[in-house]
Amino acid sequence: MIWAKEETLPREELEKIQLKKLKETVPYIYEKVAPYRAKMDAANVKPQDIQKLEDLKKLPFTYKSDFRDNYPTGLFAVEVKDLVRFHASSGTTGKPTVVGYTRHDLDVWLNNVARVTCMGGASSSDIAQIAFGYGTFTGALGLHGGLETIGASVIPMSSGNTNKQIMFLKDMGVTLLVATPSYALHLGEEIRRRGMDPQKDLNVRIGLFGGEGMTEPMRDEMHKVWGDEFFCTQNYGMSELCGPGVAGECSALNGMHINEDWFIPEIIDPKTEEVLPPGEKGELVITCLGKEAIPLIRYRTGDLTRLMYEPCSCGRTTCRMENLSGRADDMLVIRGVNVFPTQIEEVLLKIPEIGPHYEILVERKNRLDVMTITVELIDDRLLDSYTKLSELEQRIKAGLKSQLGLATQIKLVAPNSLQRFEGKAKRVTDLRKDGL
Ligand SMILES: [Zn+2]
Repeated sequence: MIWAKEETLPREELEKIQLKKLKETVPYIYEKVAPYRAKMDAANVKPQDIQKLEDLKKLPFTYKSDFRDNYPTGLFAVEVKDLVRFHASSGTTGKPTVVGYTRHDLDVWLNNVARVTCMGGASSSDIAQIAFGYGTFTGALGLHGGLETIGASVIPMSSGNTNKQIMFLKDMGVTLLVATPSYALHLGEEIRRRGMDPQKDLNVRIGLFGGEGMTEPMRDEMHKVWGDEFFCTQNYGMSELCGPGVAGECSALNGMHINEDWFIPEIIDPKTEEVLPPGEKGELVITCLGKEAIPLIRYRTGDLTRLMYEPCSCGRTTCRMENLSGRADDMLVIRGVNVFPTQIEEVLLKIPEIGPHYEILVERKNRLDVMTITVELIDDRLLDSYTKLSELEQRIKAGLKSQLGLATQIKLVAPNSLQRFEGKAKRVTDLRKDGL
C-alpha cells in the first residue's frame, strides 16, 4: 500500500512543492534562528537569493557541531512552550543532541513514518512488537506513532528481556517486529535454541529494522534464522532530521525512497563540499522542509550513499538512496587504507562456517596498524580440527585481503562467545589513540 499521494507525483509537481516550501523555510529560519542567520550573513546570502531549487547550493551547511554549540535549544525557531515533545540522540560522548517538535511537526513526522511502514509492507491488520528501547531515542516512539497512524496494533515492549519478547511474539500472535537488525538476529537465534522454528511456530512475517544499517548478506542471514517468508526492510532517519521517516525500503528492495516533499537530498564530496551529479556516491546532505521547531538547511548527515532517480516497480516516483555504505566518521584508516566495517561484514557473511557476530580490534604494534577480527564459528566441533580451522582462517584472510587490500589477523571463537547487543552493536574497538 502507498500511504500518501505525494509519493507518486510526477517530478515537476514534486519539485514545485519542494520549491514552494523551500521559499517559505529559508526566510523563516533567517528570521527565527540566530546562529543560522549569522552563517547566511557570513556567506553573504539573503533569503530572497533563493528563487529556484538550484539556489539551494548557495546556502551554508549545518553540522552536528551546531547542535553541540547551541545546546540545548539554540537552534530552535519556536519557544519551548510551543513544543509538544522533546527527543535526544544517544551521544557517546559529551552532551546529547536535543530536538523538539510542535504539534504540526509531530503530525508530519508520524505521517512520514506511516509511509515508511507501508513501504515495508505493514498494514492496519498487523500486530507490531517494538523491541527498540523507549526513552528519548526517536526510533521507538517514531515507529510506534507511525504504526498507530496506519491502524496497526502496537505492543510497546521496549528493548531487552528476551524471554518476555519471545513470550509476547508467540502469545500475542505478533506479525511485525521492530528492532535493530543485530537484535532481531539474536532473538531469532534464541527462538531456535528453544526448539521453535520462527516460520512454523510464530506469525512474525515483517521486520522493520533501524538504529543501524543492514547489509545484504545480513538480510540473507535474517532469512536463515526467521525463514524464507520473512520480509525485512530498513529505513533511514536521524533525530536531527526528525527521527525515522526520512526514507524507507519498498517491496522492490532496491534502495530507500526519500519522502522528498519534506526532505531535499543532495550528495556532496565530503572533502571539496562540491555537489555531485545524480548517481555519484558521496555524503548525504538533507534540507528539511516545513519544520516549525528545528528547520534545518543542508544538514551534513555524515552518511555515504548515492541517489537513484530511475522509476521504481513499486509505483513510487520519489528518488531512492542506496543502502548506506558507511558513515564518513565510521571509516577506519588502517595503514593509509580507508576501511568501513560494513565491507568486513560483507566478506564474513559470505562464509558459511561462521556466524553473523564479529568484533574488530585495531591496535598499533611496532608503529604499524594491526587489525584483528574475532569471529564466531557456527559449529564448535571445528575447534577440534587444527587443519580445518587453519584452512578456514586462511580463507577468511584471503577474502578480506581481496576486499580491503589489507592483511588482517583472524581469531575464531566458539559459538555464542561474543557479546550480544540489544541496541546498536558496538563492533569496533580502536586502541590506537593510546598507543604510539
Ligand atoms: Zn519502490
